[in-house]
Amino acid sequence: MSKAKIILNYIEKRYGRYIDNSTLRNKKIFELLIGTILSQRTRDENTDKAVSRLFSVVKTPKQVLKLSLSKLQNLIKPTGFYKQKARRIKQISKILLEKYKGKVPNDRKELMKLPGVGYKTADIVLMYGFGIPRIAIDTHCNRIPKRIGLVDREANVEEVRKKLESLFPKNKWYLINLGFVNFGKEICKPVNPLCIKDSRNCPFSSFCKAYKTRKFKV
Ligand code: SF4
Repeated sequence: MSKAKIILNYIEKRYGRYIDNSTLRNKKIFELLIGTILSQRTRDENTDKAVSRLFSVVKTPKQVLKLSLSKLQNLIKPTGFYKQKARRIKQISKILLEKYKGKVPNDRKELMKLPGVGYKTADIVLMYGFGIPRIAIDTHCNRIPKRIGLVDREANVEEVRKKLESLFPKNKWYLINLGFVNFGKEICKPVNPLCIKDSRNCPFSSFCKAYKTRKFKV
C-alpha cells in the first residue's frame, strides 16, 4: 500500500467522524472568511473567543462597517495582532460591499486580492465555504508531509498543495487539511513530535523520513 493510502486510511479512521463535509459546507461564508483571518498567528481557543464575540454582534459586511474601529478591535482582542486584523476586516467588508454586492467571491484570484487573504485562507474559504475541492496548506499541512517524505522539503506552499492534491483522491481532499491539523496538534507536533519518545506513538514512523534521519526541523 502506498504511503498516501496508509495516511489517508489513518486520517479517515481517526478523524473522519469529526469531519463532516456537508456540515462544513454549511458555514456562513463571510464568518468563515473572517474567522480564518482571525485565526492567523493565534491559538485556537483565542480565535474561538474572538469569533464568538464578533459574530454575536455582527453578521454581515454592512454591520461590520457600522462598528467603530475601536469597538471592532475590542471584540476581536483575544486574537493576536487584533489592531491590524480589525483594519483588514473593515477593508474587506468595504471591498465586499463595493465590488461583490456584500458577498464573498468564490474565485481564488479574487479572494487573494482581499487584504490579509493568502493561499491558505482563500483555499479554506473555497473548500469549506463553497465546497470547491482544495487542500489548504497551513503550517501542519506543510510540515507533516515534508517530515514524512511525501513532499520535497524545499517545496513552497503551492508546490506542497499541488503534490498533495496529486497524491490523494479529490473526493477526500476535504479530510486532508483537517486531518493533518489534528494529527499535527496531537502527534506530529511542531516541536518534539511524539515519535521522539517512542516510535509506537506514531503510525507512520516505519516509513517517515524525519524519523529515520532524526531531522525533524522543517
Ligand atoms: S514519525 Fe514523527 S516526524 Fe514522522 S510523522 Fe510521525 S510524529 Fe511526525
